[in-house]
Amino acid sequence: MPRYTYRCEACQTQFEVRKHMADVDTDTLCPECQSLETQRLISNVAIFSSSTNGQVRALAGSSPCSGCGAAGSGCATCHPR
Ligand SMILES: [Zn+2]
Repeated sequence: MPRYTYRCEACQTQFEVRKHMADVDTDTLCPECQSLETQRLISNVAIFSSSTNGQVRALAGSSPCSGCGAAGSGCATCHPR
């Protein structure tokens, strides 16, 4: 069963829940304050967008690999050719 990270909007607690993919969008109870005001976070997944010229670049918020650092200029690891 995959694990998902949620954040409670009421108390800002982040917690992980194992649930079926089909249940991902069902209400998730905060373990700290029992609020249902929780939001699923996308974690451990690099988010890329393809621009019109076919280049793939990382969106803000996802980090480039350690090879190219914060500059995100791209290297063989994160931009394999
Ligand atoms: Zn909470």
